[in-house]
Amino acid sequence: MDTVNLLGFDLPGLAAYCEQLGEKKFRATQLFRWIHQKGASDFEQMSDLAKSLREKLGGRARVQALDVISEHVSADGTIKWLFDVGAGNAVEAVFIPEDDRGTLCISSQAGCAVGCRFCSTGHQGFSRNLTTAEIVAQLWFAEHSLRRRQNTDERVISNVVMMGMGEPLQNYDQLVPALRTMLDDHGYGLSRRRVTVSTSGVVPMIDRLREDCPVALAVSLHAPTDPLRDQLVPLNKKYPIAELLAACKRYLEKAPRDFITFEYCMLQEVNDSPERARELVRLLKNKISCKINLIPFNPFPASGLTRSTNARVQAFAEVLIQAGIVTTVRKTRGDDIDAACGQLAGEVQDRTRAHIRMVRAPVNVAKSAG
Ligand code: SAH
Ligand code: SF4
Repeated sequence: MDTVNLLGFDLPGLAAYCEQLGEKKFRATQLFRWIHQKGASDFEQMSDLAKSLREKLGGRARVQALDVISEHVSADGTIKWLFDVGAGNAVEAVFIPEDDRGTLCISSQAGCAVGCRFCSTGHQGFSRNLTTAEIVAQLWFAEHSLRRRQNTDERVISNVVMMGMGEPLQNYDQLVPALRTMLDDHGYGLSRRRVTVSTSGVVPMIDRLREDCPVALAVSLHAPTDPLRDQLVPLNKKYPIAELLAACKRYLEKAPRDFITFEYCMLQEVNDSPERARELVRLLKNKISCKINLIPFNPFPASGLTRSTNARVQAFAEVLIQAGIVTTVRKTRGDDIDAACGQLAGEVQDRTRAHIRMVRAPVNVAKSAG
């Protein structure tokens, strides 16, 4: 008989499952705490669970993490794991320690179908959505292995960002229970402000997330105009900037923070001129409460793009700051282990011929340079 992986249930889901087994709902809370708060995977370990329940679970259920293919530790303390998700696919998660927090960046898909030009995951194409269990397993493994390593019972991961491989809002149904497990007081107990979904702009799903599970939202903008954004983020042809910003405004009605973060990957001579910065000011200023996070492009083989020089990044930031828009430049972490944004490549058995598509439609740098 196939056993069910309990990492795939949020607490209401686990309660329903326990009821099916003829168990009281509160048993689910105990079980959930054992799994997520204590990192237990062996039912026999769960000493205060009724023996009858432990026996029932034994034959039917499991708590199954992902196999770790590799682990790399950067000189700055960043850790990158490569997890096997079967059939030749592997996904990455990155832990970024800072003085006042520990952030885990996790993946939502094996590959990505959006195909952004500057993203190595996009270049690899798409294989499949991760399940809720596979999304949660990245956090479960990272949190509990870090606690063991640091020899502590205290929480190590305080923030989760859905900024690894994949477009989380194109895997909505598996994403939401995973977010709920992160937020649940009996699970990881993270506050909504400390769980961030990053999206390239799947407008209808931004609206659904607002109703179902409003966590912090980051939107990958990368360009101030539709012609340029169409080239960098192909999804823009379906959901152009005006529609995207309207969805962001609606999101703010329920969001745990009173601003949206716009991410902007700085590509030399493509989207990084002062004129582009002024266009961005015209687009956003007094229109929407936001912060801008400039991400220096992290190059990877075959991208054909270059990172903006520091001087260009600074000049761009200056225009935004002068206009009163809160702007930060993201520090690159884990550079030496290819763990920086957009370098997460994992291993993807592409089913979309992404590579061929991209070669046929290179970014028109001449047209878009400003
Ligand atoms: N699919 C989601 C989340 C994953 S990508 C999204 O696009 O938002 C996470 C962030 O890394 C996004 O802001 C993305 O634009 C950025 N990124 C992708 N490739 C990059 C690269 N090569 N250099 C720097 N940032 C990159
Ligand atoms: Fe997908 Fe995000 Fe990469 Fe674009 S940047 S290809 S949406 S993972």
